[in-house]
Order: sequence, then C-alpha cells, then structure tokens
Amino acid sequence: MHWIVRIECEAEDGEHPSSSEAIRIERPRLEIAGDVGLTLEDGKRIMAALQRRVVADQLREYCDRSRRCSSCGAARPLKDRRRRVIDTVFGRVTVASPRYKRCRCGSHHEQTAPVSGLIPSRVLPELLRLQAKLGADLPYRRAAAILRTFLPEATCFSHATTRNRVIKVGQAIEDELHAEMAHRVPPLAPAQTMVVGIDGCFVKGIRGRRKTNLEIVLGRVEVPCRGSEVFAVVRHLDGRAKERVRTVLRRCGRTPDTAVTILSDGEDGMRTMLGRWLDPTVMHRLDWWHLYRRLEKMRKALLYLPFTSDRDWRDRLRAETWAIEHIRWTLWNGCTCVYLTDCAITQFCVELEIHRRAVLSAGREVDRIDHLLEQLAEFRRYLYGNAESLVNYNHARIAGERVSTAHVESTVNELVNWRMCKKQQMRWSPLGAQLLLHVRVAALNGCLERYAGSRSTTTAPANDDQPIAKAA
Ligand SMILES: [Zn+2]
Repeated sequence: MHWIVRIECEAEDGEHPSSSEAIRIERPRLEIAGDVGLTLEDGKRIMAALQRRVVADQLREYCDRSRRCSSCGAARPLKDRRRRVIDTVFGRVTVASPRYKRCRCGSHHEQTAPVSGLIPSRVLPELLRLQAKLGADLPYRRAAAILRTFLPEATCFSHATTRNRVIKVGQAIEDELHAEMAHRVPPLAPAQTMVVGIDGCFVKGIRGRRKTNLEIVLGRVEVPCRGSEVFAVVRHLDGRAKERVRTVLRRCGRTPDTAVTILSDGEDGMRTMLGRWLDPTVMHRLDWWHLYRRLEKMRKALLYLPFTSDRDWRDRLRAETWAIEHIRWTLWNGCTCVYLTDCAITQFCVELEIHRRAVLSAGREVDRIDHLLEQLAEFRRYLYGNAESLVNYNHARIAGERVSTAHVESTVNELVNWRMCKKQQMRWSPLGAQLLLHVRVAALNGCLERYAGSRSTTTAPANDDQPIAKAA
C-alpha cells in the first residue's frame, strides 16, 4: 500500500494557495508486527519535507515584506540572489536569500539581506537550545548520536557542531556576566535575607598546565519567597572568581543591607577563600551535613575494631556508640560553646583508650583504634577551627532556617559529577569548563532559552532593515 501526504500553503488572506507538494509513503503488505504503522525513518522524511516547505514559504513571504521601503512603500531594487543553509530541528534547509539595494527614493536605509539579518547564526533557536542542553548533559558524541537517532539526518548533528553550539551559548552567558561585572548594576528587587550554600570540587584539567586539576566553587543562593539559583565558578580562570560570585549574589538581590548567611563545610581552604571574597558582615554557619558525615564515618568504624575477652563486645560497642551519639547531641543542641562537645569527645577518647589497652594486653594489633583516635583528634581541631561558625542547629531547624548543604551536594552531582567526572575521560581547559558550567547552570536555573534565542530576542520586526555585514 502507499499513501500520499500533500502540503499546501494558504496565504493569510486565503486568496493565493500555493501549489502542493506530495510525500509518498509506502509500506509492505502486512505480515509481521514490524510492518504496522509508520517507521521512524518515514516520520523523519515527512518532517524534513514539511520543514523545507514551511521554512521556504515563511522566508519568501518575509523577504517580500522586507523589500518594501519603509519610507515610500515601493519595492527596492534587487542586488543579487544567494542561497543560505539553515540548521533546524528537522534537518538542514537551503533557502533563497535575496539582497536588496537602497531605495531610489533616497531613504537612509542601507542595503539589506533579510534572511541573514533574521538568522545571522544560521541555526534556529530551538535547535541551538536542544544541542546546548544535550551537549551540556551528555558527552558531545553521544548527544549528537541521540539527535541523529530521532531527528532527520543532517550534518548539523555532528559532535563538533554540538560542541561549538554549547560553547556559543556558554560564551553568550559569559559576555553577559562580564557586562554585569563591569557595570555593577544594583539589583532590581533587593533581598532582606539570603542563604548561600557553597561547596567545592575538582575536575581534571588538560595536561601541560601547572595546575592539573581545576577547582570549581559552586553553590545555591536561596532568597525567601523567590526560590533558589545555582552558580558555578572555575576558581583559577582569570583571577576574577570573587567578582563572579559577588555579581551572582547581586543579581539575586544582595545589597549592603542584606543579611547573608553562608553555609559551607568549614575546610581551611574554603574558609579562607570565603573570608577574602565576602565582607565580614556575612554570617558563616558550619554545615551540619559535613559534621554528621564525619561522625557517621567514625560510628561505622567502631564495627571493625578488634574484639577482646575482658568485656562482652556488645556492651563495648553500645558504650562507644553512645559516646559518639553524645558528641552528636551536644553539637545539634546548640552548644555554641565548643567546650561541652570537647568533653564529650574526651569521654569517647577514654572509652577508646580502655579498649586499646585491652587489645594490647591480648597481644593484638591496635592500628584501627589508633586510626580512630587520630580521626577524633582531627575532628576536635576542625571544631575549634570553626568554633565561631557553630550554632544551635536544633533551634535554627525549628525556626525554619537552613542548617545543611545536602542540597548543594546534589547540585555538585547535577552540575559536575555526572558530566565532568573522571569516568567521562575528559580533561578541561579553565575556559572550556567555565563555558560548559554556564550552560549547565542556565539549564538548571531554567533560563537557557534566554541565551539560546527566544521569540522576543530573535524575531525581527516586519520590514526591518538589517545592514549587510561587511563580510557578506
Ligand atoms: Zn523608498
């Protein structure tokens, strides 16, 4: 059997329907399930033909409209007629691109090329957005392969094109950020309070550089009643990481009067960096999630300590677990004075020391206990280093305040680990990493359309006179 799909264009006034175009579909006599219905290839062929026709008709009408002089209304003289290749989601389309001279009436408008003016990058925004989104989420070759699978075959779906378009969108975001940094535009809607969760991670840098790993600082800015916004900055890109973070905070509504609370893991590097990047009025709060993880690691290590015959191992495990729980309780319930937690740690050390002596007298190895004691000493140093950032987590939680950066951990996974981790076998230049992160952040913040071209930014007004670029 065969079917014929006809495409007919009807002008807006309905008076001049253009000639139709037919797409012929053939399917074999029905014998197996695979013969039922249209195939993916049929669908691609139909959509590609439909797109060719729709794009050609739309641009012909647009060029005719653009030809009219905006001063006197007469048709301007034709300079020449070229062809332009335009990439669309349904394949690559070649269209006629006429160029018009200045009008004889002496209008000030220069010669124009309407198609080049309307689509200067020769790719439609929907495809640009799709390629940027997929290229930011997946390795470039896999993103290109997925597009080739579901969309009509075209050379615009190669991995190189996908990479170039991700970079193009990333560069647009980078340019906007530079403009914001230069002008320091005050926020449109100032925020009274703001909570910023910050974390850091590393990705592999390209070989031959002094720094083989690139440090990425990322976080989530939360403003009450406005939702949250994610940001990611490559720290050693151009020496302006501090300005980048400050610009993002300003965009989210930070003014000199905004009360900013920073949540971070309290590591030395991060603490020093935040101290230099943000002014002293910012309140720093040690992240509960990192505290909890450290204690949990020690609690699990208890299960692997050696047994001794002097005491039932269940009793000993119970006592040691209780000691860790006591440390956790003192931290959670607001011992802003770190000494009470210090007492709890000492109590745990005593338990471990008794255990250690019993193991030694039994003539067995005490490596694991020593390791746990070292961990405990390091934890104590960590708490003293962050003593000013400890708060009453219980009260803060009851008051509805943010006490943990677990949500930032998930942001790290979404932004970096799934796309830029070691498993992907990719190495990144600082700028390449920053541009890809820009696209991933924009996709996560739901504003990718703004940079990949939307109706408001790409649709030129009727009869617009775009001057021809010198290279054309
Ligand atoms: Zn004119």
